[in-house]
Formats: sequence, structure tokens, C-alpha cells
Amino acid sequence: MTIHANYNNKCIECGNPYIKYNEKLSCPNCGHFDESATTIDFIDLAVQSIEYNGGVMPLAFGVFSFGDHVLYTLFEIFVRFNRVQGEDFRLFLETLLVDLDDDFWKKHLTDISVLVHDKLYNTQTQPKGY
Ligand SMILES: [Zn+2]
Repeated sequence: MTIHANYNNKCIECGNPYIKYNEKLSCPNCGHFDESATTIDFIDLAVQSIEYNGGVMPLAFGVFSFGDHVLYTLFEIFVRFNRVQGEDFRLFLETLLVDLDDDFWKKHLTDISVLVHDKLYNTQTQPKGY
């Protein structure tokens, strides 16, 4: 069984889907803080799921929720990153996501990916502008 993230959350203010991966996180799009939104330990879950797959794409992975959609995107990111050993993760990510038009989604995905990366590789990615 592949590890899934049965999670859906939409901002009650602007309607954007986002993952509230810590309880203090506001909507990454409009900044609205929704106390009633469910917090999910998404970073740990993503790390477990990626490690479970052994760094390759799962043969089959049904996407049943927004959380699954993000998980699947993370699989793709880290499978690619595994092929370019030693590259700076933030640079790698910027190049990979360069054609993404949606600024909100790009930022949210980058934030999540960096946290997952640091946990997965037990390191600390330097903040932007380093
Ligand atoms: Zn919002």
C-alpha cells in the first residue's frame, strides 16, 4: 500500500486550495488565517511516502484528494532530483518550476518541497538570496 494523503483544504477567504502543514500557517495566497482548517503533518507524511517508494515513481498512484495531488507532484520532483546528485536543491527547483505561471502555487510548492527535501536529506537548505 502506498501512503496517501487524504486531505482537502480550501481557504474560506479566497478559495485557494493549500496544505496547512503547520498550525500557524496562514493561506499562502491571501494571508487569511483559518483557525478551523485542519492541520496535517504533511511534511513527515511526504517523507515517509517518498522513502516508501524508494525514490522512484510508484507504479500506480490514485489521486483522490488535493493532498494526493501534491504528494504526486513531490514524487516527480524528487525522482528528478535524484538523477542530478549534488545539485543545489533550490536552484534545481527554480529551474524545474520556471514555466509555472501560478505564483501562489509555485511558492507553496517550493516551501513544501524545501521542507521535505531538508527532512529527506537531513540538511538545511539555505534561504533564498544566500
Ligand atoms: Zn486565501
